[in-house]
Amino acid sequence: MSALSHPRFNDEHAAYEWVEARLWPNGPVCPHCGATDRIRPLMGKSTRIGVKKCYHCYKPFTVKVGTIFEDSHVPMFKWLQAFHLMCSSKKGISSNQLHRILEVSLKTAWFMSHRLREAMRDGSLGPLGGGGKVVEADETFIGRKKGVPTPKGGPSHKHAVLALVERGGKARSVHLDEVTKAEVGKLVRENIDRESRFMTDGAGTTARSARSSPSTVTSATLWASTSAARTARSTPTRSRGSSVCSSAA
Ligand SMILES: [Zn+2]
Repeated sequence: MSALSHPRFNDEHAAYEWVEARLWPNGPVCPHCGATDRIRPLMGKSTRIGVKKCYHCYKPFTVKVGTIFEDSHVPMFKWLQAFHLMCSSKKGISSNQLHRILEVSLKTAWFMSHRLREAMRDGSLGPLGGGGKVVEADETFIGRKKGVPTPKGGPSHKHAVLALVERGGKARSVHLDEVTKAEVGKLVRENIDRESRFMTDGAGTTARSARSSPSTVTSATLWASTSAARTARSTPTRSRGSSVCSSAA
């Protein structure tokens, strides 16, 4: 038995039932006319799973209409597997991994992870944290940059990512164009509510950025320099030109 042995991850009927129960807790709703009655499943031999027909507007539909699953030929149970894999692994899951695990083409896997990430964004991309909340931050290096040779030491050939985690809340990872105090400081200001307590592990550029005196971080009187906890005091603005991926932590 594993989490992925549940019928909804392996059986298309079970997968549809599971999604329908969540999107239509009070029974099916016609996406065309909004009707909630006189809707019946189409049971023909060649009918796809989950197709229903509204006898108000006489149009067919499935639970996929208007969701991230719309216009996708990927079986619903694979979508649910992808969702599970993405949400259950701490570092998320790459399109390459989805491609191998779900046995879909790389292009399909890319499409799926794009849609799933879009669905997991909370929309606002407002700042993390807030009064009395703690936001932890750290930088890490992943993958490798195209055409950049491996140096003798250091991670300059890898992509830098700044991870921000609100304790007991949301998480966000932001791609760093440059690993400099100014760049990190800017992203922290843009993504963390100024009322938050800000914590780092004391190493790396993120911590140096937090430690630095206000005058050395561009355009801001930012940091209260206590040793473990720091408060970001600038006004956060929306992040510009950075790829931001949000998910529930
Ligand atoms: Zn209808």
